[in-house]
Amino acid sequence: MNQTSTPTSVPAKVDYKRIATEEAFAPAEMLEMYKKILAGPDPDPGFVSLMGFYMSSTAARPRHIIEHLTDLGEKRLAHMDAAGIDRQIIALTSPGVQVMEADTAVAFAKVANDELAQAVRNHPTRFSGMVAVAPQNPREAAKEIERGIQQLGLTGVIINSHTHGEYLSDPKFWEIFEAAEANDTPIYLHPNTPPRNMIGPLRECGLDGAIYGFGVETGMHALRIITAGVFDRFPKLQMILGHMGEALPFWAYRLDYMHRATVLSERYESMKPLKKKPSDYLKENFIITNSGVAWEPAIKFTQDLIGADRVMYAMDYPYQHAIDEVIAMDGLALSAEDKKRFFQTNAERVFKLV
Ligand code: MN
Repeated sequence: MNQTSTPTSVPAKVDYKRIATEEAFAPAEMLEMYKKILAGPDPDPGFVSLMGFYMSSTAARPRHIIEHLTDLGEKRLAHMDAAGIDRQIIALTSPGVQVMEADTAVAFAKVANDELAQAVRNHPTRFSGMVAVAPQNPREAAKEIERGIQQLGLTGVIINSHTHGEYLSDPKFWEIFEAAEANDTPIYLHPNTPPRNMIGPLRECGLDGAIYGFGVETGMHALRIITAGVFDRFPKLQMILGHMGEALPFWAYRLDYMHRATVLSERYESMKPLKKKPSDYLKENFIITNSGVAWEPAIKFTQDLIGADRVMYAMDYPYQHAIDEVIAMDGLALSAEDKKRFFQTNAERVFKLV
């Protein structure tokens, strides 16, 4: 599999735009801040495993990733051209500001959003950007959502899963949901490495990162948001999950069955009745991208469950930068209409691009 920038072939001309919806960037200044956090006392083990590795490894893939994360100009555009990507929806890479101390995180989210907004202004037909926020301060996060959407011209909100081991299912964070709903913009719940109290058995066997731990942690985070009743309180809120919904579509039957059984038996104080089944929220409040999963059976299964109007294309650049995957996705056995939904029109609707 081609995991670096060397193209093996060229995508064909197609009659839809290819919009990649989970693409990452990192301000160079943020990587400098990361170096200090990594060198500081008792850094988060997931952060050490993830960014500690990418920033220090001399292997080809991590070097390619770090070099291209910081570019919001010609290198990125050349890769998009070579891969046939018309537009990237760009977000601050994981864990973004969420690994920082609260005041620094609030301040740096604004810096990162300003940098991304400038790149979008420089290349308005090629780039769109999501608003990064610091959940450490929910009031400031809500204000930054409003600034990013209303003033900076960004679209969507990026949250890189847990923040110092805390989850958005806690009502203290719900001001963030309120702001996203009020600004009619989706929240992309992107993975982070599992927090300190969860990472142990995953890290000891090398499974804490994107291979599996990301999905375990972020799938659980999305479920916590569902079971906490967030969508009963904010019914218009839309969230986006990458990586084929972090496997939640495959779990839908068992989630519905066991959620009902658990609620009826009053086993947990924390698991209250909901207005709908867990799978109903997946179908009505989530959009799922295929970032990192260029695999037709999983894409079709998810389309069957939540609808072809809720499944979007993503590449996961520069972590996954594989032109052969674009060619494979062009070859999906879908109707012309559904393929255009997958690559183009769902993203245009969700991110208000037209
Ligand atoms: Mn990603």
